[in-house]
Amino acid sequence: MSGCPTLGALLDQAKTSGVSRSDAQYLLAHLLGKSRTWVIAHSEAPLPEELLPPWNMHIQSRAKGVPLAYLVGCKEFFSLNLHVSAHVLVPRPETESLVQWALEILQRHPHSPRVLDLGTGSGAIALAIQQACPTAKVLATDVSAAALDVARANAQRLRLPVEFELSDWWQSLGQQRFDVIVSNPPYVAENDPHLLDLRHEPLHALVSGPDGLHALNHLIACAPQYVVEGGWLLLEHGYNQAQDVQFALRSAGFEAIETRTDLADVPRCTGGQWPYTHSS
Ligand code: GLN
Repeated sequence: MSGCPTLGALLDQAKTSGVSRSDAQYLLAHLLGKSRTWVIAHSEAPLPEELLPPWNMHIQSRAKGVPLAYLVGCKEFFSLNLHVSAHVLVPRPETESLVQWALEILQRHPHSPRVLDLGTGSGAIALAIQQACPTAKVLATDVSAAALDVARANAQRLRLPVEFELSDWWQSLGQQRFDVIVSNPPYVAENDPHLLDLRHEPLHALVSGPDGLHALNHLIACAPQYVVEGGWLLLEHGYNQAQDVQFALRSAGFEAIETRTDLADVPRCTGGQWPYTHSS
């Protein structure tokens, strides 16, 4: 064992490959089946020889920009430990504000509210809502069968009764109507240079037309057929899309339109309420 490099030496080596210390600590912890704290406290411990090849592969992949979450196979979102693969977008902290907003609305609903999450990916939004609001009846859809497999497995492991359906946005939803509809659709513009940093994630979950607004506009245009009177549509969007989303919501007939910021204070989600019809 004496020839095996210590964890401390491997962390230094990772840094010269361009991988941050914190990412390298998580990768070591994952390989060793220990916590990151354990790795930090055992910098003199050697890495067992058989773990050296996978370690080198992980460091190379991370240096090439593969998200840490794909390498360790999980990502925390809204205090849930979600399993992820390259079939789904890595859940991001900025999406937590969308969940928070949905939960505020659901608090005002006394009985099993119906919630729809369109384009669920790993299931992050739907599962976080179900966890915090056990009385909700949550349906989550995705156009990708591979993504739905990931989401279903997360629901099973976390014992959350979210239902899943393969659907191209609204396509499979028939006559159903929902109290709260949420979505983090693709919203990056086709030629956005930022896409280079995201090249390991599924493109169809990121990009939506020349201005990134294609999916958002489609969701807003069809939503009136699927939302109950007094129900809400809440959408995540890009940092510069709040005005366009507000405009589309207003044009479709939504009211009480509001934009909320994410943890970095960036305008990140916009939503509106479908009006009650006052028949007398
Ligand atoms: N927020 C992601 C990013 O720009 C994009 C996610 C999305 O398109 N829904 O990194």
